[in-house]
Amino acid sequence: KVSQKYTGIIEDCCCDFETVDSINGEVLHPLLKELVTTPFFRYFKVKLGCHCPFWPEDGMCRLRDCSVCECPENEFPEPFKKNFHPALLSTDFMCQEGKSQASVDRTVDNGAFRGWVETDNPWTNDDETDNDDMTYVNLQINPERYTGYSGPSARRIWDAVYTENCPKYPAGEIFQEKKVLYKLISGLHSSISIHIGAEYLLHEVTNQWGENPELMNDRVLRYPDRVQNLYFTFLFVLRSVMKAANYLEHAEYNTDNNKEDMKSHSLVKQLVHNSKLQAACPLPFDEAKLWQGQSGPELKQTIQMQFKNISSLMDCVGCEKCRLWGKLQILGLGTALKILFSVDDKSNRSEPFQLHRNEVIALLNLLNRLSESVKLVHEKADMIENIVHTV
Ligand code: FAD
Repeated sequence: KVSQKYTGIIEDCCCDFETVDSINGEVLHPLLKELVTTPFFRYFKVKLGCHCPFWPEDGMCRLRDCSVCECPENEFPEPFKKNFHPALLSTDFMCQEGKSQASVDRTVDNGAFRGWVETDNPWTNDDETDNDDMTYVNLQINPERYTGYSGPSARRIWDAVYTENCPKYPAGEIFQEKKVLYKLISGLHSSISIHIGAEYLLHEVTNQWGENPELMNDRVLRYPDRVQNLYFTFLFVLRSVMKAANYLEHAEYNTDNNKEDMKSHSLVKQLVHNSKLQAACPLPFDEAKLWQGQSGPELKQTIQMQFKNISSLMDCVGCEKCRLWGKLQILGLGTALKILFSVDDKSNRSEPFQLHRNEVIALLNLLNRLSESVKLVHEKADMIENIVHTV
């Protein structure tokens, strides 16, 4: 027996595995899955150029599925289209994944962000300045899945993330905050691995895609700590979304498509004011326990710096599609950290926080990715048990 269902309280959280599996399967996953298909949530603004500050010579991954299909013009929401410049489109551009609607729209327009202020995120290192490097990507046609990116380049990033920026804490570590950073990154790493296993290129010649449960088992399921960390990260991000409920409820989800925008708004409301969720797991993570001791402010600065470094490392990911999802998910985590810890260091008063449109998109797409991984872990734990039993 190599794997089993996980039960009991999730370490450092306020809910157990069974409750999370049930509320995720019944309520959260269906809502999030639908939400991320709406126009507001499926376009992500990103700089995909490789501006790696650490290893500038790093090569790009060559496998075709590493490439990102950018937004075809006809799909782009109207408010994003102001100053649209056809000359910027390459008519004969063929998406590297071979999809037909692959012409690249690199138009960036501040008008698309009306109603949303430009704000700095103290946890991340993203440069949101509009220029030719900035583009909008349709996340729906660029799913996070197996790309073939591996070897020294991928290993170097994960090594730098863990050894330099969030070392695994020793058993008995008393600083909860140091544990939190490690667990968030490890949980995200588990989620990425689960998605690689969920959509794997089984046969390159015939382009046959499918599940690779052995990979999910080898990389995640058989490690109780990696599974715990995935659930922890999910609950941490979920808590941030619940904490920002009022803000998210009153935000403007405008893509000039009334019907779809009303749907985005309604789904967000159903998510953030969900009575079933509030009854089952009212406080998924208790952020009030952190940064309390004498060393709190100093610790916060150190951890903020480490998270910023991790954010910069995403520019060194040598595969475009991995970089897209790496940047999105680190921005999502940075946004969760900003929501949970948007406290003025000196006065210790809560500041009214502002979120940038891209932060909201990243936050909810991250939550959806984590929710899907949690669902897959829950389902595959059984499946792998059965495979092993029948061998
Ligand atoms: P890796 O996943 O590279 O792990 C390296 C080491 O980290 C392991 O040996 C282990 O010691 C440790 N480790 C592994 N998992 C955990 C965990 N959950 N918690 C703590 N420690 C852990 N590849 C794709 O195919 N598609 C993608 O979308 C994709 N996105 C990526 C995004 C980023 C930001 C990065 C850095 C890489 C991405 N990759 C992606 C590559 C992928 O993550 C692996 O690096 C690659 O598949 C090689 O896997 P591996 O078996 O060598 O182990």
